Amino acid sequence: MSKNIPYKIYLEESELPKQWYNVRADMKKKPEPLLNPATHKPMTLDELSGVFCRELAEQELNETDPYIDIPEEIIDFYKMYRPSPLVRAYYLEKALDTPAKIYYKFEGNNTSGSHKLNSAIAQAYYAKKQGLKGVTTETGAGQWGTALSMACSYFDLDCKVYMVKCSYEQKPFRREVMRTYGASVTPSPSNTTEVGRKILAEHPGTTGSLGCAISEAVEVAVGTEGYRYVLGSVLAQVLLHQSIIGLESMTACDKYDIKPDIIIGCAGGGSNLGGLISPFMGRKLKGEADYKFIAVEPASCPSLTRGVYGYDFCDTGKVCPIQKMYTLGSGFIPSANHAGGLRYHGMSAVVSELYDQGLIEARSVEQTEVFEAATKFARIEGTLPAPESSHAIKVAIDEALKCKETGEEKTILFGLTGTGYFDMYAYQKFNDGTMTDYIPTDEEIKASVDTLPKI
Ligand SMILES: *Cc1c(COP(=O)(O)O)cnc(C)c1O
Repeated sequence: MSKNIPYKIYLEESELPKQWYNVRADMKKKPEPLLNPATHKPMTLDELSGVFCRELAEQELNETDPYIDIPEEIIDFYKMYRPSPLVRAYYLEKALDTPAKIYYKFEGNNTSGSHKLNSAIAQAYYAKKQGLKGVTTETGAGQWGTALSMACSYFDLDCKVYMVKCSYEQKPFRREVMRTYGASVTPSPSNTTEVGRKILAEHPGTTGSLGCAISEAVEVAVGTEGYRYVLGSVLAQVLLHQSIIGLESMTACDKYDIKPDIIIGCAGGGSNLGGLISPFMGRKLKGEADYKFIAVEPASCPSLTRGVYGYDFCDTGKVCPIQKMYTLGSGFIPSANHAGGLRYHGMSAVVSELYDQGLIEARSVEQTEVFEAATKFARIEGTLPAPESSHAIKVAIDEALKCKETGEEKTILFGLTGTGYFDMYAYQKFNDGTMTDYIPTDEEIKASVDTLPKI
């Protein structure tokens, strides 16, 4: 039977999902509401609309509609790079000599190189529809900034990206991709904002941080007529847009009678994982099927496995709404030798709540073992994976090897979120043997978690 499954399953264009799936609608106990950072009261639609586009604010608050129509203009854009392939990892299975069947959903087949484009295009569309002039954002490794630049150029919106200075210098090619799509890219901290000037005065020569770049991007959005700030992960609206990954995967699985037992995703802010598992989780919540879901995070930034479940700031600048999530504290900064991505201190509220209810498991892995898995995967399956995606590869391999021991023929599905072309600095460290692991101590985590707002 499995012989009939092609190496790459491509759905027809006509099979592209027409609606996103909102897993919150099927959760009995929902995530806690976002709170206003000043009053600690739930954010209202009007308050949220000052930060996000109106329709995105509505999506953020929508806990009742399981399906939300994808506008025709977004479907048109999706057609340029979707449906993405569901690949049967025949070569990896053979190399591991496992009875397990391994599949991965590959989201790296677009110029931005990752799944982030799925939400970038939606956010740009709603901004355009509302008549805005442009959007601002931050980018660390650069995938989100690249995706947003592509989406904004498609809808003719201005895009201002604040890029963490060390990435700006280490990843000149990502920066140039953004500029090629018409975005302006400013190394952060910069002297273009008040907060940037303040940080530069206090820490001359600093190479920046994500939290600082967020604060600059927010300051510019709030202070510029016709602009909004947009975020590439964590929010419920982003998980909603990313459900396209899971919906396509489910359609392909159903079509070929593939029944995943284990579904694995890497977890930074939780958007690809949430998007991949959402429709399957919906079936599990309704008692129609059962799956084991595994979130994989770096041991150097272990929000699910070692963080606390509480209200925290989403950003270091403490200007965004507060949400209840698994968090290491908004001041937590992973060790400087951490090169493997997924460095966000918190986790999507939806993923956090599902994890708290025991519906998702979590594992943490160290970066050298992640790069070992990445290198193995590249050599066997041909695709050079992003370091972030390789966290999922590592655990998929672990699970397949367990099947080899027990003889179980489990079906494993994992999300391969992107390509690693722009991550060669990290690969270089691994190849040179200079990559090290760092696991934060309990004291470090406690000190950071102690700074959570008291709510
Ligand atoms: C941003 C990114 C991630 C992590 O973000 P999530 O919101 O957790 O999905 C994973 N993989 C790649 C390639 C990314 O660019």
